[in-house]
Amino acid sequence: MTTPPPKATPDAAPEAGPDAVFRRHLEAGEFALQQCGDCGIRVFQPRMLCPACGSDRLDWQPVSGRGRIHSRAVLKQRPEKGGDRAIVLVDLAEGPRMMSRLPDTPAQDIVIGMAVRARILQGEEGPAVVFDPDPDGLAEPSA
Ligand SMILES: [Zn+2]
Repeated sequence: MTTPPPKATPDAAPEAGPDAVFRRHLEAGEFALQQCGDCGIRVFQPRMLCPACGSDRLDWQPVSGRGRIHSRAVLKQRPEKGGDRAIVLVDLAEGPRMMSRLPDTPAQDIVIGMAVRARILQGEEGPAVVFDPDPDGLAEPSA
């Protein structure tokens, strides 16, 4: 495993694939998603072509990081491995749905529809987008 440079410039190496560009944005502390220059949708996972219209005019734009919990699944783990972990699907305010987790929130406190806010976690395996509860976020009243 190679150690990424501490600071990277987004789009510094345009020949790299979209996953690498996404990762370089995260390494630079920016949560950015592609936006289609033709139909305007936001795209995640990173792609070469717009999944809606097939355009290759995908530009990287920062997103708000706001979203809501769409679903959650709890993985049972032994305490010595860190205890139960919740894997969530988050609907971002910009539209895309992404799989993530809430590293500082107990699994039982994660509720469907809960407002969350993205944070970039610079982990041992590279940067990752994780979420925290957002008390003044976009929550819809839960049923
Ligand atoms: Zn498009």
